Amino acid sequence: MGRIDQAAARARMVAEHLRGRGIGDERVLRAMGEVPRERFVRPEDEGRAYADRALPIGHDQTISQPYVVALMLEALALRPEDRLLEIGAGSGYAVAVAARLCASVLGIERVEPLAVAAARRLEELGVANAVIRAGDGSLGAPDEAPFDAILVSAGAPAVAPALLEQLADGGRYVAPIGRSSWAQELVRYTRDGEEYRRTALGGVAFVPLIGAGGW
Ligand code: SAH
Repeated sequence: MGRIDQAAARARMVAEHLRGRGIGDERVLRAMGEVPRERFVRPEDEGRAYADRALPIGHDQTISQPYVVALMLEALALRPEDRLLEIGAGSGYAVAVAARLCASVLGIERVEPLAVAAARRLEELGVANAVIRAGDGSLGAPDEAPFDAILVSAGAPAVAPALLEQLADGGRYVAPIGRSSWAQELVRYTRDGEEYRRTALGGVAFVPLIGAGGW
């Protein structure tokens, strides 16, 4: 597919799969309409880069479904001055979208070759306000805390208190949480001093978060 076809497919994705299914945050919709998802999938999947589904990225991992990326970013309510931590950076796609919505993004990815590939893609696309770190991010990045927003892009059995502690006051944490390693509920916790307000955002299916704060 050529550039124009991909741009048209991307616009259709935004209209049908995102706006059409209830995503209303105009900044999120614009950012999703700008990031070339075809650059984050395997060459053989470029033709279905804008289908509303997760796709394999190797190492038994996946790039998340566009609707779910939009839902999570909308729930994080990123402001231009915010610092975001993403745990489970995978292909780097969500990092690239989020980097258009806030001041800086730190993405952590456990599978080193995926982390290397994600960092290279972001560099090629000129994303200057994001950094990818290889390693276990399930307990966050205390050395860089606090964060205004924390996004966990892999399923954990429970909320890790260490992550909530790394939120700035007013900060938002969004994560898929569930007892099954393949089906979870997307939840958001908003910090208000030492209190956390919980909101349930619906059922999702993520690959497992593997590590000290996960499975
Ligand atoms: N957000 C990604 C998709 C994530 S899939 C994208 O936009 O492409 C979930 C990712 O979480 C996988 O790549 C997996 O390797 C990673 N992961 C699992 N456990 C992790 C951990 N403890 N720390 C960091 N990354 C982890």
